[in-house]
Amino acid sequence: MAVHDHVDLASFIEGVKKRNPGQPEFVQAVTEVAQDIFEFIEDKEKYHAAQILRRIAEPDRVVSFRVCWEDDAHNIRVQRGWRVQNNNAIGPYKGGIRFHPTVTESVLKFLAFEQTFKNSLTGLPMGGGKGGATFNPKGKSDAEVMRFCQAYMTELYRHIGPDTDVPAGDIGVGSREIGYMFGQYKRITNRWEGVLTGKALEYGGSLMRPEATGYGAVYFLGNMLSHAGMEIDGRSCVISGSGNVATHAAEMIARRGGKVLTLSDSDGFIHDPAGMNQEKIDWVKALKTVRRGRISEYAEEFPGSTHHADKTPWGVPAELFLPCATQNELNGEAAKTIVKNGCVAVAEGANMPTTLEGVEVFHDAKILYAPGKAANAGGVAVSGLEMSQNAARVSWNTKQLDTLLTDIMGDIHAKCAQYGGGGDGHINYVKGANIAGFKKVADAMLAYGVM
Ligand code: NDP
Repeated sequence: MAVHDHVDLASFIEGVKKRNPGQPEFVQAVTEVAQDIFEFIEDKEKYHAAQILRRIAEPDRVVSFRVCWEDDAHNIRVQRGWRVQNNNAIGPYKGGIRFHPTVTESVLKFLAFEQTFKNSLTGLPMGGGKGGATFNPKGKSDAEVMRFCQAYMTELYRHIGPDTDVPAGDIGVGSREIGYMFGQYKRITNRWEGVLTGKALEYGGSLMRPEATGYGAVYFLGNMLSHAGMEIDGRSCVISGSGNVATHAAEMIARRGGKVLTLSDSDGFIHDPAGMNQEKIDWVKALKTVRRGRISEYAEEFPGSTHHADKTPWGVPAELFLPCATQNELNGEAAKTIVKNGCVAVAEGANMPTTLEGVEVFHDAKILYAPGKAANAGGVAVSGLEMSQNAARVSWNTKQLDTLLTDIMGDIHAKCAQYGGGGDGHINYVKGANIAGFKKVADAMLAYGVM
């Protein structure tokens, strides 16, 4: 085989920046992955020659569209919606839908890129995609959310399908929104098929899907700790966020004997030095999903706890950290504080919650650090199992699904150890996840030839 000119890492990143102006999150996600992949493919000419990383870092397509709806006061509102289909080399595009005012094309492209590696790591046949809109469900009536979801799906339906692209929930999209969108897809197409995951049990949802991301992150954390001769039991834990991922992570930490000290939302964090038991966590779940309230109300409900307005929880000393809110919520300064305060492990429930500077601090300190694409893959894994159940017209029970989730998280840990292990016994989980995720997608792409 001819030896081709290789671009070096710096020129590659320069090219990504040039081709994606004004998209810092996407450039950040590609940079983080490229560092490890360049090292891995250094002596593997076939990946260079086929320009594999360059191709994965260029989405198959980005669809953007107008979403027009009417609010309760009969004002016409216009929002922008997207679906980013990053790569379907190993299966139909798969990834959540996010409704949040901070959604941009850059954010969705970074999420779809990350999703490609994460889905590959699960071992299930799923490609990477992500979608969303600038819509903010907070403070909207149910009827407004329904009209928005229907309007969004009225455009999206033509781009998705059970063998094409299967969206799910993400920030701002829970079972209520999935219900409205699934109903609209069914109405337009006159087909009942597993086109979305995260559905309610009554219409094809899977047991364990709501719990899967948070539980899976804690299973992964447990795997990292036990590999290093430690356990969750008896350790204090700081968690950010108070949505689906954060509350289920808190629940599993408490079940395994850990002490959950904090939760947060975009208005600040609560600190409960006594720790959170199941009753308190159930209260937060109801607060967030039924009453749709703010986490500050926790401090009024539970004496001894405090609310810290407009602050992040990273200054609270603990041994375990689970960032479960949003991207770039933990920067280099916060990472230094966490390390200084005696942290032993960080597992990311959110996608890319740590900035590149923060990641460097964790690596230098050699703490156990699991990136989101490994630690939070349990959610999409059970989404993949929901697709299998829909296709086979069966429903598996909680025990079967929990066993599958546990095994998948164990397999991901093993893959990270295989590709990220150093001579000193320390595992670089970022490197392990990047390389293992890349290899499967890359080899599938090589098989297809140039496209
Ligand atoms: P939810 O909408 O259920 O909860 C999101 C939580 O994060 C809320 O507490 C929210 O607070 C907080 N949050 C959102 N944006 C910001 C912000 N800009 N600053 C501070 N806090 C913020 O979402 P999920 O729990 O589903 O998702 C959380 C993270 O996990 C995301 O990164 C998502 O991509 C990732 N993830 C989710 C999966 C899933 O299965 N749901 C799967 C894999 C990853 P507020 O109410 O104030 O907005």
